[in-house]
Amino acid sequence: MKNNRITIFDTTLRDGEQCPGASMNLREKLEVARQLARLQVDVIEAGFPVISDGDFAAVQAIAREIKGPVICGLARCVPRDIDAAGQAIKPAGKRGRIHIFLATSKIHREFKLNKARDEILRLAVEGVKHAKGLVDNVEFSPEDASRTEPDFLLQVCKAVVAAGATTVNIPDTVGWAVPDQYGALIGRLYDSVPEFQSGRSVISVHCHNDLGLAVANSLAAIRAGARQVECTINGIGERAGNAALEEIVMALQTRADFFGAFDCGLDTREIVKTSRLVSRMSGLIVQRSKAIVGENAFAHSSGIHQDGILKKRETYEIMDPQTIGWGRTELPLTKHSGRAAVAARLKHLGFKMNDADVAAIFARFKEIGDKKKFVYDDDLSALVEGQITEVPETWSLDYLHVSSGNRAVPTATVRLQNIADKKPTFVQDAGIGDGPVDAALKAIDRLTHTHGRLLDYSLRAVSQGKDALGEVTVKVEFNDGKAVTGKGASTDVIEASARAYLNAVNRFLAGPDGKGPADGQP
Ligand code: MN
Repeated sequence: MKNNRITIFDTTLRDGEQCPGASMNLREKLEVARQLARLQVDVIEAGFPVISDGDFAAVQAIAREIKGPVICGLARCVPRDIDAAGQAIKPAGKRGRIHIFLATSKIHREFKLNKARDEILRLAVEGVKHAKGLVDNVEFSPEDASRTEPDFLLQVCKAVVAAGATTVNIPDTVGWAVPDQYGALIGRLYDSVPEFQSGRSVISVHCHNDLGLAVANSLAAIRAGARQVECTINGIGERAGNAALEEIVMALQTRADFFGAFDCGLDTREIVKTSRLVSRMSGLIVQRSKAIVGENAFAHSSGIHQDGILKKRETYEIMDPQTIGWGRTELPLTKHSGRAAVAARLKHLGFKMNDADVAAIFARFKEIGDKKKFVYDDDLSALVEGQITEVPETWSLDYLHVSSGNRAVPTATVRLQNIADKKPTFVQDAGIGDGPVDAALKAIDRLTHTHGRLLDYSLRAVSQGKDALGEVTVKVEFNDGKAVTGKGASTDVIEASARAYLNAVNRFLAGPDGKGPADGQP
């Protein structure tokens, strides 16, 4: 009998982070990794170490600090990449995994790699053997597997398993697969490789959502013998994204009557919290009607449904929202709450903050507490985010005044403090624009001598009520053509916009780890 344990391989920090506009800094990645550990995923793919110093440092920091899950680094099938991955995951010790990929499909062989089948086979085996010299836990991915000739794919699987690959991933790299066909392919590989049957090597799947089939394909693969799924929180990832972790896990759990009793080993009550954290840290907003984690996923609007739910929940609800982590609201804090209460709530929310961070967050908490009655956990999380996305600040917002109206020329007066100077100085200017936000941003441009082009702007209410915090996320392109994300929160949406824009300016001026312009994935 096949075993029923599904290994959850989370690639939010690698494939998820690769999607446009999602890049996270080191502290944001660490917060996400910490939450993934609380969710109890089995494997965290932390990044692609050879790609940049920033990626290497992130994988290394996660390997060093995150306890519990296996920490995995991605590598192309060349010694330089494999060595970099091996080096980065070293602090995880026996929990380290190297994941190697090499394309096997005809179209990739001929047009991308210009290599024949024999050579691909030889390189794959050499790569796995090289990685095995560094770490025992080695995963191999024949890239574009779903479009690879099945006979050749089987040959590759047998060869890498013989070379020591403990996991063989069959990625649907371009989202081309359909469930029945993909399931049949996985079934054939399972039946043809004795090591897959004995569990000495595990079949993994990695599905993309170009046709909206990533989750369906992953489930078909599990039924056919796959025992690892690669997925991301909220389904973020390249192009249309990856298979959504929360959907796969909840489908298996909710429909155990059909799938059988699979065990993903997760604490599903952490799902909603993880979803929100990833959304915040990546700047990618979850659509309201998204399955499992969308704002409306358990909102019943029709009277008939509401009536049914009240009589018996199961009439219209197939899952208990509490098992996913919905509805666990704590009493909100107020302006009378002290620093200890705020620190305790931060700890309860799972954030790891030092004294300086708590002090900065508490100062902002007091400002907000003066303006709104209740400060909810979501509000507090937004402040944390503001704190940890903070780069060494060059400029900070001291004063903002705007005047606008339907018959007025929108005007903004902005005073900034230059913190980078030895003796902090203030500068002040005013700008006019198409609206108050435009006017404020123009004044900031003038004061900081930058020229940002706003590529994307989004505003969302963090919690409930008319006095809710507004959280603004901006994507700004600066002089050098690099796009930088900035975030800011306030009860005043214009102030939130100015803070978000200034955050982007500071990130641009600081660059990654203070060495040149920030953000952007190669
Ligand atoms: Mn992918």
